[in-house]
Amino acid sequence: MSAMVIDGKAAAAQVLEQVSAEVAQLNQAGVQPALAVILVGQDPASEVYVRNKVLRAGECGIRSLEHRLPASTGEAELLGLIHSLNRDPGVHGILLQLPLPAHIEETRALQAISPAKDVDGFHAENVGGLHQGRDVLTPCTPTGCLHLLHQALGELRGKHAVVIGRSNIVGKPMAALLLEADCSVTVLHSRSRDAAELCRQADIVVAAVGRPCMVDASWLKPGAVVVDVGINRIEEHGRSRLVGDVDFASASAVAGAITPVPGGVGPMTIAFLMHNTVRAARQQSRAPKEAACLSIS
Ligand code: NAD
Repeated sequence: MSAMVIDGKAAAAQVLEQVSAEVAQLNQAGVQPALAVILVGQDPASEVYVRNKVLRAGECGIRSLEHRLPASTGEAELLGLIHSLNRDPGVHGILLQLPLPAHIEETRALQAISPAKDVDGFHAENVGGLHQGRDVLTPCTPTGCLHLLHQALGELRGKHAVVIGRSNIVGKPMAALLLEADCSVTVLHSRSRDAAELCRQADIVVAAVGRPCMVDASWLKPGAVVVDVGINRIEEHGRSRLVGDVDFASASAVAGAITPVPGGVGPMTIAFLMHNTVRAARQQSRAPKEAACLSIS
């Protein structure tokens, strides 16, 4: 058996096309969606992510406002910037690129972002809302994974999903989104026992661990749909390349469908950042007073 390869690039292009159409509609209503991107320090990987996000925003017609701060920036200064962006009616989304320098408390900085402008879906108000089944901004990577799963499987109701990894950014929100989609959800983590055996019971596997090629064919039930979130750089035969958390060659002999790395989940993350920005712009332009109330000043 050879698994169907789920094309994340094509799915992302479709999402971005819809985003562009919505931007055009908002423009007609006099709204120019705008995303503020804050980068503290010069982490090379973060520089690449920020560049890609700004590029994609421009392609969709979203205005991006880059705030590049030196690594020495104090927490109070960063919070001051976030508060002023919260108050600015011309800014609809605020993205704080992680990781932050060690002297800045990540949770405090993320909590300072107005929930209405929290396009990463990391604010406790949005995290809680997701768990209560409310219609809130949700984290981009797991939302992109859910979209791919709907494309591959249609209805997810009643399926057994195994999420490997329990981070706040991917694993936990992924589990919550799958639960909302009426799946039965098992979350595996570094302390789980019999992980491969539990995983073999799944109709859906989402791997978000950060360990190259950890999940192979022996972890999978025949026909399972596998979404590989992992991005790991490995050295092989003197060359460096990106691999996921899933051993693609081995797993695709057993799985029904599988995302590749690269070209699977990665493009979906940026597409859903744009989706969330337009959604935030639409909500704020419909209810400017409400958005202002949520803003922390
Ligand atoms: P993280 O380090 O915060 O979390 C990793 C999780 O894996 C932890 O919850 C841990 O309990 C679990 N884990 C570790 N060893 C395990 C084991 N042996 N068995 C089962 N679980 C184990 O990582 P993260 O931020 O969630 O990212 C995970 C991976 O996804 C990384 O490779 C990261 O680069 C990638 N990622 C990709 C995207 C994207 O857009 N494609 C976005 C975010 C993260």
